[in-house]
Amino acid sequence: MSINKVGVIGAGTMGNGIAQVFAAHGFEVVINDISGQALERGVGNITNSLDRLIKSEKISDADKNGTLSRISTSTDMSALADADLVVEAASENFEIKANIFSELDKVCKAETILASNTSSISLTRIAAVTSRPEKVIGMHFMNPVPLMKLIEVIRALQTDDATCAVIEELSAALNKTAVMAQDSPGFVANRILVPMINEAIFCLQEGIAEPEAIDEIMKLGMNHPIGPLALADLIGLDVILSITRVFQEELGDPKFRPCPLLIRMVDAGYLGRKAGRGFYQY
Ligand code: NAD
Repeated sequence: MSINKVGVIGAGTMGNGIAQVFAAHGFEVVINDISGQALERGVGNITNSLDRLIKSEKISDADKNGTLSRISTSTDMSALADADLVVEAASENFEIKANIFSELDKVCKAETILASNTSSISLTRIAAVTSRPEKVIGMHFMNPVPLMKLIEVIRALQTDDATCAVIEELSAALNKTAVMAQDSPGFVANRILVPMINEAIFCLQEGIAEPEAIDEIMKLGMNHPIGPLALADLIGLDVILSITRVFQEELGDPKFRPCPLLIRMVDAGYLGRKAGRGFYQY
């Protein structure tokens, strides 16, 4: 594996976490965003996250300084020209990702592996906009990235064995576990998680139990760290609805129909934590 310099596209929730983890493990990182403000906020958030790790005695001051010294930022994609790997974590929209990948394909050296952190967009479609589809792969990190062990690695139809091997080895170097999945709507994580959340909303709609009771049953009974309705509020109800729509469109099975209560809550703007109201008040 010859990955030294890593580009991260998007200084949002996920991009910041991904940049932090790579830099903490000795990689040189350049974060790119269209917004200079987002980059400034991103470095601030990474600094706060490292401070929390110092407080809980997981890292030292020297670790924090070392991590920050390996991170630089740029609004200019040409700063990624000599990156060995780029992980894209920009907004969840095919047009945006297609533009980014076609630009990266032009800017980056021929050997650069291009990865996407998408939660639901087909890697095969993304790979097809580049001239190096065999070097395109999904690296689906979990939120919060510094704490979660899993990287769900998505193999597009075109991805070659060598690219998969590099990403598996790299995941171990980040102290994470890579688990491979084929390119299919929602991959494995969201294919299972989102229908479970949707079913919890049906339980609420049908008056089977109150939100607190539904969450308590799944926490105490299944040993889940958080109940499905509280988790839906954390993810965002609009995000849950859009993933169920992708399942309906691409898999065509009526079992993926979104619960009418979910649709109604999104219509009302009760999107969860980010809106101050979802199944709970914040
Ligand atoms: P976010 O909205 O917090 O951040 C997205 C960032 O991308 C913003 O800073 C925006 O300015 C930037 N951006 C938009 N267009 C750009 C472009 N053309 N070039 C460079 N930067 C651009 O989003 P997020 O929650 O961090 O999600 C990012 C990706 O990760 C999405 O594909 C999402 O589906 C996926 N994901 C999210 C989660 C989660 O829990 N939030 C979990 C797993 C995967």
